[in-house]
Amino acid sequence: MRKKIVAGNWKMNMDYNEGLSLFSELINMVKDEVTGKQQAVVCSPFIHLHSLVQLSKGYTKFSLGAQNAHQAESGAYTGEISAKMIRSVGAEYVILGHSERRQYFGESNDLLAKKTDTALKHDLNPIFCIGETLQERESNKHFDVIKNQLAEGVFHLDETSFGKLVIAYEPVWAIGTGVTASSAQAQEIHAFIRKEIASKYNQQVADDTTILYGGSCTPKNAPELFAQPDIDGGLIGGASLKSRDFVDIIKVYNS
Ligand code: PEP
Repeated sequence: MRKKIVAGNWKMNMDYNEGLSLFSELINMVKDEVTGKQQAVVCSPFIHLHSLVQLSKGYTKFSLGAQNAHQAESGAYTGEISAKMIRSVGAEYVILGHSERRQYFGESNDLLAKKTDTALKHDLNPIFCIGETLQERESNKHFDVIKNQLAEGVFHLDETSFGKLVIAYEPVWAIGTGVTASSAQAQEIHAFIRKEIASKYNQQVADDTTILYGGSCTPKNAPELFAQPDIDGGLIGGASLKSRDFVDIIKVYNS
């Protein structure tokens, strides 16, 4: 059975103290209210990671992740953070290929393939983001875009390495816009992603891959989205900054 995951992406929000108090609040709420087998992940800015890992010690419901990692092992890359550094503070995940990184920092599929390799080498589980722009959807190119992002970004991996990935489908037109993909639109792409994985690897690998939906997910629309057969949870931006909303989304998977 593949894992159900609800991951929060704090983006460039929360100063150090704000982040610690939000996370403490989340832990207390989740301890009281979450009853299922779902996994919660918080992808915070780098400055919080070490402290959040310490706060989550002994409590397996929460894992921590970073939002980016450099492709090189180490060296003269002023201002960058390596996968090894992230792993060394106890984080287990890293978001790679978020559309904001692709758009504002020019991250290509080729570069993301390298980042994926380095992250895996250091025992981080990439949450690998893919998704089309509005223009690509309107010109009916969305399936090709997704296919290409998978082929160039992650399909060079062998089966074992691929098994460590979480895929996040995030239509760019739905991120931070308040416009959500309909559950039918999201399910259609998730099923397509799973089919692509099955043809590259095999049906078992496809069935075991957790595929998250991201894009203006809220406590209101999450139940219908998460009920789709190929949607295994969410990557949550804005709503992950509000403890009540984030916990309510996590609770969609309560048993
Ligand atoms: C995201 O940044 O990954 C995201 C899905 O953002 P939002 O939920 O705010 O649309």
